[in-house]
Amino acid sequence: MTCEDLHKLLREFVGNELVVESRTTVEVHIAGCPHCGTLVQSYTHVVRIARALPKTRPLPAAFEARLRAMLEPELKDE
Ligand SMILES: [Zn+2]
Repeated sequence: MTCEDLHKLLREFVGNELVVESRTTVEVHIAGCPHCGTLVQSYTHVVRIARALPKTRPLPAAFEARLRAMLEPELKDE
């Protein structure tokens, strides 16, 4: 798995939507790639925050802008 492959799977991985074999592949990659490890940690953190927010309200604009600024350089190939 390349870093690019991981970026494509990141959302499903964090959302627990990957089949077990794919999760294992991602976990093996993270173990050997500190950059992706950090990315997954940040993303997991963001998803947790987002889920804790009331679903009926959109994210505060400033908060969303910060998240995008943090994640977009990592996900620019999407
Ligand atoms: Zn990587």
